[in-house]
Amino acid sequence: MFTESNLGNDAAGHQRHGGWVEIICGSMFSGKTEELIRRINRAIIAGQQVEIFKPAVDTRYHDSEVVSHNSRSVRSTPVDFADDILLLAGGCTVVGIDEAQFFDDRLPAVVTQLANQGKRVILAGLDMDFEGKPFGPMPEIMATAEYVTKIHAICMSCGAIASHSFRKTPTKDQVQLGEKDTYEARCRRCWLEGRREQEENEK
Ligand code: ZN
Repeated sequence: MFTESNLGNDAAGHQRHGGWVEIICGSMFSGKTEELIRRINRAIIAGQQVEIFKPAVDTRYHDSEVVSHNSRSVRSTPVDFADDILLLAGGCTVVGIDEAQFFDDRLPAVVTQLANQGKRVILAGLDMDFEGKPFGPMPEIMATAEYVTKIHAICMSCGAIASHSFRKTPTKDQVQLGEKDTYEARCRRCWLEGRREQEENEK
């Protein structure tokens, strides 16, 4: 688990010499947004200028807030395109980005540019879609970030550590927003079993 001590002296070094990128990834129900909010809150307490962005497509809860599943929330700005973040993040030292997997393929370049300007960029997002494939711009950012934190949920079938998001209704659309009655966090084995069952039923 990522803690402030992981950054420790590194962070002080980064602060003097420029920006950096942190990415928090994992399956549904793994607490990604909670971890993003935890880091953002500490930056706010430290008096840093913070802005949070999320894709306008994610309107699950509230228009102008990052809201996690446990309802601890921080205000955020919905934007249509990754490039909008460049225009809006000018005055801040810390940039938070939630549901990063839903952004367009300009996000990796935008994130790099923000870090090169000396900003701390913290992203949260799904690493894989419900088919187990890398999700949108996530893999490129995971490869180029200074810090990658992969967190896990608990398998809702067997209680093991869960890394996969299982969609209970077998539709093909990758962008179906997370609802508790649509998705389950599952371990690799239970996810595979469920996928095979769905394939059998389709025949
Ligand atoms: Zn399981």
